[in-house]
Amino acid sequence: MEINFNNTFSGQKQPEEKHEKVIILGSGPAGLSAALYAARAELAPLVITGTELGGQASLTFLIENYPGFPDGIGGTDLGQVFQKQAEKFGAKFDYDYVVSVDLSQRPFQVNTYNTHYQADVVIIATGASPNHLGIPGESEFTGKGVSYCATCDGWFFKEKHLIVVGGGDSALEEGLFLTRYASKVEIVHRRDELRAGAILQRRAMENEKIHFTWNTTVAEVMGNGSGIVEAVRLKDTQTQEERLVPADGVFIFIGHTPNTSIFHDQLKMSPAGYIEVDDLMATSVPGVFAAGEAADPHFRQVVTSAGMGAAAAISATRYLEEHAG
Ligand SMILES: Cc1cc2nc3c(=O)[nH]c(=O)nc-3n(C[C@H](O)[C@H](O)[C@H](O)COP(=O)(O)OP(=O)(O)OC[C@H]3O[C@@H](n4cnc5c(N)ncnc54)[C@H](O)[C@@H]3O)c2cc1C
Repeated sequence: MEINFNNTFSGQKQPEEKHEKVIILGSGPAGLSAALYAARAELAPLVITGTELGGQASLTFLIENYPGFPDGIGGTDLGQVFQKQAEKFGAKFDYDYVVSVDLSQRPFQVNTYNTHYQADVVIIATGASPNHLGIPGESEFTGKGVSYCATCDGWFFKEKHLIVVGGGDSALEEGLFLTRYASKVEIVHRRDELRAGAILQRRAMENEKIHFTWNTTVAEVMGNGSGIVEAVRLKDTQTQEERLVPADGVFIFIGHTPNTSIFHDQLKMSPAGYIEVDDLMATSVPGVFAAGEAADPHFRQVVTSAGMGAAAAISATRYLEEHAG
């Protein structure tokens, strides 16, 4: 669920100063699970939600692989029950965005648009954001036919011809979802085999609305005079041949980049920007923990992110007990 901040710091009002024992950055599965565990340890954690309440999970229509929901659960619904459960035990929420942190001294400084917080412990659960192709027309037509979220935008493409870019789980899951609306979903993949899991591959292959275009990339998104997508220029990765294909929408699912730029030079990270954590979810700065996709290039699931969030909160609780006073 996307939040628009209408109370954004205008530059005229002075930010408030506040102190919190535990601040959790992010309201995805990792942040909300950390909030539940820290709340049950009676630490009254504060979650700073960011713009995406519920995280990436809230972008998908149905989650079928989170244990406890044999019939699946809507992505937004799952975020809401996570939040409700954390609130029940005393977690607090600030619907704001962290613009900078100072982790060089304690208490740590966490600055949002509206508030300058000090925190004894910080749990980073800022997750990841979808990668862009970086091709001509992509940013120009974002919201006008180019999308990174089938659940959000699929409805607008009834009986349309859609291009889905990617070959992993997300591309197939979202491509399958789009067949509810579209007349044809063409999955364009730069290789000749998919990375997606076997069940999804079978479902996609069996769906008569889905077509695969192999060894091909999208080189350009093109629009009509009204600024709406009407075609893509496809390029064969083997022959380099290019051709125009009419299309009403382009959905891009080519992986994610961790949202960790505000921690650069303050925490140890991998070259790809994932925060390095030990098996207790501790980062290179004592008292700062990280969980979920901000620190996980491998699994990137709701259940694994939630598990890391719980582990980070348990470690944070122990850290506070050891450093009491
Ligand atoms: C389309 C799609 C379908 C998916 N389907 C499934 C599925 O079926 N099953 C499954 O297990 N997984 C699925 N996933 C993956 C799953 O959603 C993620 O693994 C999971 O959401 C990661 O959780 P997270 O809490 O680490 O991060 P995220 O979910 O990325 O949440 C990050 C949170 O941090 C916040 N944030 C970011 N920057 C800041 C900042 N500066 N200040 C404050 N807050 C900030 C964001 O607003 C957000 O709330 C899917 C993902 C996508 C995109």
